[in-house]
Amino acid sequence: MLDAKIPEGPLEEKWNYYKSHTKLVNPANRKKIDVIVVGTGLAGSAIAASLGEMGYRVKSFCFQDTARRAHSVAAQGGVNACKNYKNDGDSVFRMFYDTIKGGDFRSREANVYRLAECSANLIDQAVAQGVPFGREYAGYLNNRSFGGVQVSRTFYARGQTGQQLLLGAYQALMRQVHAGHVQLSTRHEMLELVVIDGKARGVIVRDLVTGALERHGAHAVVLATGGFGKIYFLSTLAMGCNGSAIWRAHKKGALIANPSWTQIHPTSLPQSGEYQSKLTLMSESLRNDGRIWVPKKEDDQRPPNQIPEEERDYYLERRYPAFGNLTPRDIASRAAKERIDAGYGIGPLKNAVYLDFSRAIGEQGEDKIREKYGNLFRMYQKITNVNAYTEPMRISPAAHFSMGGLWVDYELMTSIPGLYALGESNFADHGANRLGANSLLQACVDGYFIAPYTMANFLADEIRTGPIDTKHPAFEAAEEQVKAQLRMLENIQGKHPADYFHRNLGRVLYDKCGLSRSAAGLSSAIADIQQLRHDFYKQLYVPRGFAINTELEKAGRVADYLELGELMCHDALTRNESCGAHFREEYQTPDGEAMRNDKDFAFISAWEWQGANNPPLLHKEPLHFEFVTPTVRSYK
Ligand SMILES: Cc1cc2nc3c(=O)[nH]c(=O)nc-3n(C[C@H](O)[C@H](O)[C@H](O)COP(=O)(O)OP(=O)(O)OC[C@H]3O[C@@H](n4cnc5c(N)ncnc54)[C@H](O)[C@@H]3O)c2cc1C
Repeated sequence: MLDAKIPEGPLEEKWNYYKSHTKLVNPANRKKIDVIVVGTGLAGSAIAASLGEMGYRVKSFCFQDTARRAHSVAAQGGVNACKNYKNDGDSVFRMFYDTIKGGDFRSREANVYRLAECSANLIDQAVAQGVPFGREYAGYLNNRSFGGVQVSRTFYARGQTGQQLLLGAYQALMRQVHAGHVQLSTRHEMLELVVIDGKARGVIVRDLVTGALERHGAHAVVLATGGFGKIYFLSTLAMGCNGSAIWRAHKKGALIANPSWTQIHPTSLPQSGEYQSKLTLMSESLRNDGRIWVPKKEDDQRPPNQIPEEERDYYLERRYPAFGNLTPRDIASRAAKERIDAGYGIGPLKNAVYLDFSRAIGEQGEDKIREKYGNLFRMYQKITNVNAYTEPMRISPAAHFSMGGLWVDYELMTSIPGLYALGESNFADHGANRLGANSLLQACVDGYFIAPYTMANFLADEIRTGPIDTKHPAFEAAEEQVKAQLRMLENIQGKHPADYFHRNLGRVLYDKCGLSRSAAGLSSAIADIQQLRHDFYKQLYVPRGFAINTELEKAGRVADYLELGELMCHDALTRNESCGAHFREEYQTPDGEAMRNDKDFAFISAWEWQGANNPPLLHKEPLHFEFVTPTVRSYK
């Protein structure tokens, strides 16, 4: 049985109790401790900067050419905090409840409460760093609403919230780099975790410019390597995003939790051609003022502005009158898919729905809409050549966020002692569906406020360990393994690039382990993926050469996806219920809503690697609800 190490006591006391009783590392001893942080997004930069400031010796790695290009930079819409600035009834408990409910009662109460509790401090910290959040005329920080809630708790910096938060974290990180507490290596990719006597003790990284392999030892390793939604190929994530760091850790013993719970975002731009891989996200914030509709007539060819009001189906407002266009993402995406599959999709590929601002412009004026979303409208026009002030946008669902990830306990430690997972790389806070603007929050809070405490609890016992010896046979073996894999990939010399296999894998996952799933579909997906993996090792083509070889990088990541994808299907197949993003066609109400099964499935699925040719082993962490009562989620 997995132990999440949740502190005893009332919900609102747990985190305070933990902080008051955890072990500390004396400042004089911190300089004897090395910590490796992989990832420089919000989670990675925040923890590296915090540990550096505390006096630990930190090594930080990312594969981009600068820490500032970590994918947090892409986040647009906002970051949640229950400050109640709008005086609309927000509170820590309400945010906790919204998040637990939004996640369809599949997350731990204690983690979610802590997330809400720390949210207010995060805004203060970011403002102190100079993050330019949007303000009202009087100077107060402004808020807007995101899906799944009825209060306004989302702080934003136009459509660049992730970028602005990341610049704050980056400054904090670079301050520590210049102070000599953090050693930063960009364009370095972690390819293996080193475990000695059951503890995480280092990593093997590859210098992506020279191709050289390096060994780095430490007393603890933090993975803050982001999400793996790119496994679907078509997604809102950049091509470089990958799941390799967590997958390699998984193969060294770290459990992966709920891997099939992927959020499909309802407001991405639709796919427009076969070779496209990146789908641009239009922020969820647009659903504050935009209304979603499709024509009532099937295969209606008229331009949107020629379709009269009474011939439009505002299907979210029709089906969910209480939340309307602000239903959570899983529900909005599924409702769009239902209309598209029923033949009401719009656009050349009939794969989209409209997002219409005409009423908001009529009521608030174009200037106000420009002030709120100007850069998003500009981006839309650049990509589509359509002016969304005068014609509705076309949007479509796309893979976006991994609720699943490395299993971590309350301390954010994985099942390997000394290995931590922060931000999107862990599974911890969002249950089966993440609420919009909770992810930037989680990445920041994990890095700035939680891990600095919880890691000390582990590191306090490491002050006498001494430096980790990278000549240890475990480093030797890990490096040899990486070298052998790279050589093997390079030597196949088949006829298809890595992208070919990635695209095919994405298709299988979209069709059979995407917005809706069935037992038959998932079983056939497992067979398809096994065949694709077999073909990959026979037909992959990678140009030779270790130095600057992006095809070789990609091949390693796709090799990992081909195993992770199969695990996702096993995960979805064993969960005989529908919850959040996991919609099993066999488990739905007559009007198409998800049917949870709390009696049999109120647990976290945590999977153990058993080898590429063996089914994974399922461990269960039961979920206990002491403070909320799971109910059927209704946004009607
Ligand atoms: C288009 C888009 C818009 C979004 N908008 C919002 C929003 O408005 N609000 C919100 O709350 N959330 C939003 N999200 C989600 C949110 O941005 C992410 O969940 C969050 O930023 C993840 O932060 P992170 O620190 O965990 O990872 P990331 O920022 O993804 O950073 C990952 C880091 O890990 C490094 N890395 C990965 N693998 C390796 C490896 N093997 N070796 C070395 N380095 C490695 C990368 O180089 C990078 O530095 C959005 C996501 C997308 C894709």
